[in-house]
Amino acid sequence: MANIVVIGAGVAGIQASLDIAGHGIHVDLVEREPSIGGHMAQLDKTFPTNDCSMCILSPKMVDVSRHRNISIHTCAEVERIDGDTGHFRVTIKKHPRYVDEVTCTGCGDCIQICPVEVYNRFDAGVGVRKAIYKPHAQAVPDIVVKDQEHCIECGLCYDVCGPGSIKKKDEETTITVDAASIIVTTGYDVFDARKKTPFNYLRLPDVITSLELERMINAGGPTGGKIRRLSDGREPQSIVFIQCVGSRDMTIGCPSCSCVCCMQALKNAILIKEKHRETDVTICYMDIRAYGKGYEEYFERAKSLGIRFLRGMPSDVIPDAKESGMILQVENSETGEVQVLHPDLVVLSVGIRPAEVGPSLAEKLGIACEENGFIRPVNDAVDTITTLRPGIYVAGTATAPRDIPDSVASGQAAAMQAWINAIRVGQ
Ligand code: SF4
Ligand code: SF4
Ligand code: SF4
Repeated sequence: MANIVVIGAGVAGIQASLDIAGHGIHVDLVEREPSIGGHMAQLDKTFPTNDCSMCILSPKMVDVSRHRNISIHTCAEVERIDGDTGHFRVTIKKHPRYVDEVTCTGCGDCIQICPVEVYNRFDAGVGVRKAIYKPHAQAVPDIVVKDQEHCIECGLCYDVCGPGSIKKKDEETTITVDAASIIVTTGYDVFDARKKTPFNYLRLPDVITSLELERMINAGGPTGGKIRRLSDGREPQSIVFIQCVGSRDMTIGCPSCSCVCCMQALKNAILIKEKHRETDVTICYMDIRAYGKGYEEYFERAKSLGIRFLRGMPSDVIPDAKESGMILQVENSETGEVQVLHPDLVVLSVGIRPAEVGPSLAEKLGIACEENGFIRPVNDAVDTITTLRPGIYVAGTATAPRDIPDSVASGQAAAMQAWINAIRVGQ
């Protein structure tokens, strides 16, 4: 049977894998993280329907895990490729998990007993996780991973694990698979808000990012769906969103629009307002980019709920010496008036940046990257799926910022191109 390798298991890679596998071709799905799912697994709701993100994604993740034509390789990355279209040899490096993937039942007893708590990247740092952990409740595969860097080797988890699945020592391994085609869906990184120093992210505890808000607003997240100030645990009475943080900003070398953060801010503002009518919510923006199906209507819904749209960008966020909040000065570009805001929570709508892994992976694969770090398709106007190297395709946010429907559609398109290539020139 022909084989295709998909690199990256966010929603685009998952969709591509399911489509290819459904056509009777085997897929090796390679993911760096301990679980498949990508950024979509971190989101609370999707716009403009407010459907639960995991309710859409989780069944697809389960389908991938059960599909007889898909092999999942987590904690793994592509080391090198040899050969050419139709006859690639892909070397996959698998990082140690310190847990036996076959015998671990995912019972979680080890997590309960582990005494070490560390920063939880999945919760964007709002919550903590243990030194042995599952990335999240619906992780696929549904097993744990031991974080050897923070493990203090107390031994408690070894004693509690019935099947004896936890390893004191583990090693990197490599496997090599054949591939007729390769699809790259390595996704994106969120902008590091520390680079916009005037907004004082990580210096003022109540300046948070849109990703942190997503985790807070999520009923399964670290605050059980309650929005709290990280400084004192209080529910904020006034919230200001600052748009385009890390996007449309030549001063930090990020000129492009991130496509999704206007709608994400609208969605989160709507969710807040629908739950807490009394909370004052302001969105400071340059333009509201509501370009998709149903998006303009969503914008109108936000306005009807009393969300305030202030056209202007604050230059900085400073602590309010008298109150426990912050001060922002904004010039309203519609009236020319300078307005002073006193929110007790500030949300930075951080942009989509190219995945850090993109350029090095592109070099290994012999495909090109744009200057900005996104992978270059053969033609941005008419073919955003094919790369300059025959047999290698790209989808999702690996080439440019995209929303979820576009990522899924590009995953499907890449699957068909890769499948046709496999049939035409494959093994
Ligand atoms: Fe359960 Fe053992 Fe797996 Fe931990 S490692 S989840 S205790 S089976
Ligand atoms: Fe946690 Fe490490 Fe102790 Fe296991 S050995 S319980 S992972 S600290
Ligand atoms: Fe700015 Fe909106 Fe574009 Fe995001 S989508 S970069 S917030 S204009």
